[in-house]
Amino acid sequence: MTSQTTPDALSDIVARIESARKAALKPAANVTLIAVSKTHDAARIRPLLAAGQRVFGENRVQEAQAKWPKLREEFADIQLHLIGPLQTNKVKDAVALFDVIHTLDRPKLAGALKKEFAAAGKTCPLFVQVNTGEEEQKAGIAPSDAKDFVAYAKGELGLPVIGLMCIPPVDDEPSPHFAFLRKLAGECGLEHLSMGMSADFETAIRFGASHVRVGSALFGARS
Ligand SMILES: *Cc1c(COP(=O)(O)O)cnc(C)c1O
Repeated sequence: MTSQTTPDALSDIVARIESARKAALKPAANVTLIAVSKTHDAARIRPLLAAGQRVFGENRVQEAQAKWPKLREEFADIQLHLIGPLQTNKVKDAVALFDVIHTLDRPKLAGALKKEFAAAGKTCPLFVQVNTGEEEQKAGIAPSDAKDFVAYAKGELGLPVIGLMCIPPVDDEPSPHFAFLRKLAGECGLEHLSMGMSADFETAIRFGASHVRVGSALFGARS
């Protein structure tokens, strides 16, 4: 746990985001702070909502379903981002609940999203997750398949892919991963980059991140 209250941590992080953005060589026009509220209950989330934060990230569909419909009745304009792996049998629930999905990473999921968007009569912006560290246990499309996959999802299926997302290996220096993702996004003609977490969001912003996903630096350590 940090000794700061979450609203204090929030203003601190917002200020750090803005100075990192200004220090970037080619700064993103806007950096969106996604407050990652996984494992934290509504009582821990409410102070951030009261302080004005509206963009949140969750990594599990079921956990988000249990918390957010009620919070949405209490606070207007909440934007929910799915940042964890998505199974095709959860696509219907995910599309109903989330405003942005960061974890499109395989053709089967692309097909399921296309089908569900048509059935639900709505879509949401998507990021393609790239497994930049080529870790076996990690989700994400292989770097060498990424361009073809974006062309398929965006070009062929017409999905609203807006950017790329990565989670660098925990023991790696993150900068090369961020630089790689940025270059790949340029080659794919994609504008947005979802990269950077509590330990490295300022570095990610210097490499052009438009969306940072910050959990423990806001809420304290997860148990
Ligand atoms: C948990 C999580 C985060 C936040 O991690 P912190 O280190 O607590 O900031 C960011 N991105 C993803 C995909 C996560 O699962």
